[in-house]
Order: sequence, then structure tokens, then C-alpha cells
Amino acid sequence: MNLPDITIISFGYFEKDLLEKVSEAVKGEFRCSMNVKEGHIDLSEFYDPARRQYNGNNLLKHVDAIPMPESNKTIGLFNVDLFIPILTYIFGQAFLGGRTGIASLYRLNNECYGMKKNDKLLLERFQKEVIHELGHTLGLIHCNISSCVMRSSTYVEDIDQKEHMLCPGCRKEIGLVK
Ligand SMILES: [Zn+2]
Ligand SMILES: [Zn+2]
Repeated sequence: MNLPDITIISFGYFEKDLLEKVSEAVKGEFRCSMNVKEGHIDLSEFYDPARRQYNGNNLLKHVDAIPMPESNKTIGLFNVDLFIPILTYIFGQAFLGGRTGIASLYRLNNECYGMKKNDKLLLERFQKEVIHELGHTLGLIHCNISSCVMRSSTYVEDIDQKEHMLCPGCRKEIGLVK
């Protein structure tokens, strides 16, 4: 498989340093070229007042519809509480084998669970979540290997249990050799 060119679009007003560190982690994992862009979106049209959350399905479709000729995979980064109708919340989601994923920092924050702020842990969680969603766009499904970044995560603690890397099986699946 040809190595992907990946674009990160920031919709969360993230600090440049955070975006660079996420971008580096993605690049290190997928050996791809990276673009980082600022995006602007009116989030109010994705807000569900009854749930007081943002509709992840609609946001994913919206990001997917943004023309991105220079790259073949795109991940939109947010800092709002995302949901899909069948789940209480999501950390992110992606089109399996598609072009686009989304991920949010919101539920990765310790403060969200009444715990002490931890910037290092937050960055690690975000890096893993972004790599995970991009793995889906590359056609990977959830993996049973406990350390693999493609293992599914329901709770933030699940993210902490895994590495930010693909296991050898998942790596082989998408033709990545390190
Ligand atoms: Zn997943
Ligand atoms: Zn795996």
C-alpha cells in the first residue's frame, strides 16, 4: 500500500505545540507526510440541545465533505463533547477504509472526571485517539491485542492501558513495516 498523506484539521483552537506533537506521533506511526491546518466551523448547527452534546455523525460527514486534494486521509480535531445516537459519548469516530475521521480532546481531560489536570497524559491520550481513528480510515477494525492502539476504548482508562502503536498484526495488515 502507498503510504498515506494525512491532513490534520484543527477545529478546536488548540495550541500549536499540541498539534505539532499529535502530528509527530501520527507521522512516527504511519511514516506518512503530514499537513496541519486550521479549520473553521459553526458548531452550533451540530449541537443537540436535549443531549447538550455535538452530533459526531454529522460532524464526520461535514469534515468528509471538505475538499482535500492534497491528502488522502483527513482527521478533524475538536474540543467538544461528541455523541452518536447509540452511545452516551464518543472519543472519536471514522469511516472504515474511508478518507476521514474525527477526534475530540473533550472527554480525554482528567478534569472531565473530577481528577487532577495532567497535560502529559492528556497529550498521550489524544495522540492514541487520533492514531486509532486514522487506523480505521486505513481499513483496520478493532484489535484484541491489549497493547495495540486499535483496541477499542470505552473509558479513558482503556486508552491509558494501550500503547500509541499498532501491534505487528495490524501493521502488517496495512502494509507498514518498521
Ligand atoms: Zn475504534
Ligand atoms: Zn492490533
